[in-house]
Amino acid sequence: MIYEIGKTSGIYCIEGIGNARAYFVGAPDFALIDTGVPGKANAIVSALAQIGIQPLQVKRIILTHHHWDHVGSLWELQKITHAEVCAHPRDADYITGKRLRRSPRQPLARVLYGLFSLLGAQKLPPVRVERLLNEGDHIGSFTVIHTPGHTPGHICLLRGDYLFAGDLLFATAGGFRETPHIFTADVKTSRLSIAHIAELNFQVILVGHQPPHVVKSAERVRELVRKIGVME
Ligand SMILES: [Zn+2]
Ligand SMILES: [Zn+2]
Repeated sequence: MIYEIGKTSGIYCIEGIGNARAYFVGAPDFALIDTGVPGKANAIVSALAQIGIQPLQVKRIILTHHHWDHVGSLWELQKITHAEVCAHPRDADYITGKRLRRSPRQPLARVLYGLFSLLGAQKLPPVRVERLLNEGDHIGSFTVIHTPGHTPGHICLLRGDYLFAGDLLFATAGGFRETPHIFTADVKTSRLSIAHIAELNFQVILVGHQPPHVVKSAERVRELVRKIGVME
């Protein structure tokens, strides 16, 4: 399923590709942000067809981070689209296979990780990352914000009023909360990253695991920062 966020944003949310969402940004970017779990390339291609986008029109695939529910269909999609694959250097190493995804330390997270591995998380084929994105880089209409913590190379992308936030935050009915700590590599660093984005101006946050949060998102993030008590 694909739908436009607002009426004329040219930003589309793609659902039904595992529990993580992907986003597509139309002209002039033609960029896909994240790719869902493995085996969803065809679902993404048909979602894009519904808005008149053919695979070869996709110029870039930008990954918010290396987790399997965000890069799962990258390998297949790259073959179909020939798009430029972009990620932060510290997560790129996991995507290219240079570093191996390791199981986390916490017992519950280990159990979940074992389960994901059974579903194919370990066996993701390596993909070449053609463009490395660092803090402050401009790529098309996006500004890259390095937001480490959930993973070392997690990034957010700012584009006008819109912030693509990957798994930095979870949206709730009234605002935001931290992504469950069991999935986060470094909670303290992640909190500093949340404080970092709270200083930016945007209206809408597009997170990985809930529908877009469209009203006064920056204010809601500042509320969360006060609640978790991080100061920069
Ligand atoms: Zn994640
Ligand atoms: Zn995720």
